[in-house]
Amino acid sequence: MKAEHYVGGAFRSDGSAFPLIAPADGFELGTVPEATREVVDDAVTAARSALRGPWGTASAEERAAALRSVADGIQARFEEFVDAEVADTGRPREFARTVDVPRAVGNFRAYADLLYGRPERAYTTRVPGWSAGAGEALNYTVRRPLGVVAVVSPWNLPLLLSTWKIAPALACGNAVVLKPSEETPSTATLLAHVIDDAGLPDGVFNVVHGHGPDAAGEFLTGHPDVDAIAFTGESATGAAIMRNAADHVTPVSFELGGKNPALVFADADIDAAVAGTVRSSFTHSGQICLCTERVYVERPIFDEFVTRLGERAGALDDYGPMISAEHRDKVLAYYRLARDEGATVVAGGGTPTFGDDRDGGFHVEPTVLTGLPESARAVREEIFGPVCHVAPFDTEDEALALANDSPYGLASTVWTRDLSRAHRVAPRVETGIVWVNCWNLRDLRTPFGGVKASGIGREGGEYSLDFFSEPVNVCIQI
Ligand code: NAD
Repeated sequence: MKAEHYVGGAFRSDGSAFPLIAPADGFELGTVPEATREVVDDAVTAARSALRGPWGTASAEERAAALRSVADGIQARFEEFVDAEVADTGRPREFARTVDVPRAVGNFRAYADLLYGRPERAYTTRVPGWSAGAGEALNYTVRRPLGVVAVVSPWNLPLLLSTWKIAPALACGNAVVLKPSEETPSTATLLAHVIDDAGLPDGVFNVVHGHGPDAAGEFLTGHPDVDAIAFTGESATGAAIMRNAADHVTPVSFELGGKNPALVFADADIDAAVAGTVRSSFTHSGQICLCTERVYVERPIFDEFVTRLGERAGALDDYGPMISAEHRDKVLAYYRLARDEGATVVAGGGTPTFGDDRDGGFHVEPTVLTGLPESARAVREEIFGPVCHVAPFDTEDEALALANDSPYGLASTVWTRDLSRAHRVAPRVETGIVWVNCWNLRDLRTPFGGVKASGIGREGGEYSLDFFSEPVNVCIQI
């Protein structure tokens, strides 16, 4: 898939271009156009004018039908989306076939469904006026779109995470300008083709490619005619976008980084807890914002848990690469730092040798560490690789204190067979999402997002529809 901008219903690739490197083997896949300020301006202008056309007055039924056509269009080109996502990210094909592409279809279907059953108007009953002598009034609240929405997405789940924002934004009647990650432009371009074929009016959906700082990302998020920003990426990038958006008081929805804890109690089903932690720490080589990087295990089962987790991690052999040489070097630098900080390396800790093309790729070994103090940088900072540090605890309160001693607060897992403990502990973990005896089990209607430096706002179901629309109250004196 040749990466192109999609602006006002037309594909173009003006501007300079940069190479796209396959992380699986280091070969060049093609080039990506770098959007200039003018391309970004054109995209925002096209989005604004689309709101003045038929899209601006489309009914909920018409918008739901548009979302269903997009879902059908992705489904019809399923294998092309799989190919594009696998080429850009190097992830195992099975992951793209079972997670990325089905979820993209599901994101559009879910928001088409959610549009039904959501009242366009919410009425209050007749209430006495609170203004002196005003009599009674009937209030009703209508929801209208925000306008032009900028979506800025990361490389780790490119199609899944961008459609997770695009679908509800379109459901609410907004026009969208997407700036995908410069590392993973292909499925965004393919999505533009699907949306073009689905017949959505020109300018309702636009894609601009390019980098973030002092480039397309910054031009878009600082644009005076953008009405809202939905961003997923690093917390430091969120802070930069917030500063950039401040001049225009542009509202933001942020899904940011994490340093997610797992709490494993001695009464847990240890087989399930080990298998669950292998999944939560090493799926997609740890490059999912929800992945566990800190594991706290109650002391009576600590040694057994560490031994079993280390064996399982060491036996993994079918895993994808880091997204880029730069990210691989960052993860390896953390492996070295952890050793310098005094870690015991239970498994992994370096780069693997496969004896095939993958040796030109950007793989690192799944790694299990122990023995670091909580103050160690490898325990406090998000590494975003296939690595976790395991530490013992003695009491429930201590486990909670350890889990909560972090600037981040995205997701956590709690492993216990004690029902009362599960209900007692889960609400006290300072993360936006707590999974008990499972990980990454998702119902798309539930609130998704983080506390502290892990984000602002919630996505999912009604939460996204609320962010992407503005409640307007109408008050009639009667
Ligand atoms: P990143 O912050 O480097 O980049 C994300 C996007 O922002 C890219 O499109 C990039 O070009 C753009 N960008 C970078 N600087 C910018 C700037 N100054 N202005 C505007 N745009 C800018 O993140 P990444 O490395 O692509 O993704 C990994 C990070 O994303 C990790 O921290 C991970 O935890 C986080 N993440 C969070 C969630 C979540 O739901 N909370 C989900 C996935 C990933």
